[in-house]
Amino acid sequence: MIAKKMLKYVEGSSVTRAMFEEGKRLAGLYGAENVYDFSLGNPSVAPPAAVKESMIRILQEEDSNKIHGYMSNAGHEEVRDAIADSLNRKFGTAFSRQNIIMTVGAAGGLNVILKSILDSGDEVIAFAPYFSEYNNYVANYDGVIVAVSPSIPDFQPNIAEFAEKITAKTKAVIVNTPNNPTGVVYSEETIQALAAVLEKKQQEFGTAIYLIADEPYRELVYDGAEVPYLTKYYNNTIVGYSYSKSLSLPGERIGYLVIPDEADDFENLVNAAAIATRILGFVNAPSLQQLTVARCLEESTDIAAYDANRRLLYGKLKELGFACAKPEGAFYMWVKSPEKDDSAFVAKAKEFNLLFVPGSAFACPGYVRIAYCVDKTMIERSFGAFEKLAACYDLEKPTAIREEISDK
Ligand code: PLP
Repeated sequence: MIAKKMLKYVEGSSVTRAMFEEGKRLAGLYGAENVYDFSLGNPSVAPPAAVKESMIRILQEEDSNKIHGYMSNAGHEEVRDAIADSLNRKFGTAFSRQNIIMTVGAAGGLNVILKSILDSGDEVIAFAPYFSEYNNYVANYDGVIVAVSPSIPDFQPNIAEFAEKITAKTKAVIVNTPNNPTGVVYSEETIQALAAVLEKKQQEFGTAIYLIADEPYRELVYDGAEVPYLTKYYNNTIVGYSYSKSLSLPGERIGYLVIPDEADDFENLVNAAAIATRILGFVNAPSLQQLTVARCLEESTDIAAYDANRRLLYGKLKELGFACAKPEGAFYMWVKSPEKDDSAFVAKAKEFNLLFVPGSAFACPGYVRIAYCVDKTMIERSFGAFEKLAACYDLEKPTAIREEISDK
């Protein structure tokens, strides 16, 4: 008999995953080329060649104990040095290895930091729509997630409601920019406003509130959009980074946390994070992957391929009259459901073998997420299905397509 606590997870297993399974079922029925699966955020672009070359060279050149052995829970020292140096060059920060903890992806990093800071009943604020796994990660440590409702139509955080929802129990706030599921990049103005509210509330309650920047999509931005580095705006920021998307390595499970010297209770916090890495059972982030990413710090996946997909799909959605948040980053489009019930819209789309994830899976009903980290030819093949779907609704056709994303 499994634990009672686990039953609800088994019963309500992820909607995104369920759509992915549905895609496989439909592909069996209609042929893979006739199913248009936009449900999963699995990078479609291969890792840069330097990743494979580095792995081979490490395996040939490095001492095998070093590659395959245990190390300190925070990770290889020289890897953490290299990451700190690279961040300092890019963002003008002053980090050292003490500020870097290697993690098992962003998911591992979020769990490590939440385990380190949450006491039972502590509140963690997230801005809807948000990555639904946050609910599980916060519940893992008996925290309580508090959702701030979306700010429509720009999907920047709703600052007024945020200020109202902070209480003496608020321990952390998670922000994710570029955002999954909206593709929106939070502006510098938004970050400054968030930081100002947090400073004020820390004073008011006499508490420390950590701002956790969940950044797996930092490098995936288009049209020159800038993603502010949050430690520069608020001392109590902790960054959770991942190479899952920037180097297309989601299965390798590698990322890191940045805990700046200025963070409240710094010494205890870095020690707690290293211990959490151990006692959650990760022990350390995968060694070969640590050594690999340290050699690929200036590399990035081929953003141009995602950008081409973005332009193609966005143009079509607009032409058909769908309303969509301006997609500036990540590889998702956030589309308004033309009927109130987003699950009904997802079901309608499925009739044409189009697979999306309903907004309710991100605490934001009335929308759907379309992941465009797919083969470009699949987007092209899907246009007929999108046209049939659009024909089911009375969409307002624009007389001219408003170019919201710049032409290259
Ligand atoms: N945070 C967000 C917003 C994500 O979209 C994802 C993965 O899709 C993660 C965290 C987890 O990433 P990782 O594979 O690095 O654990």
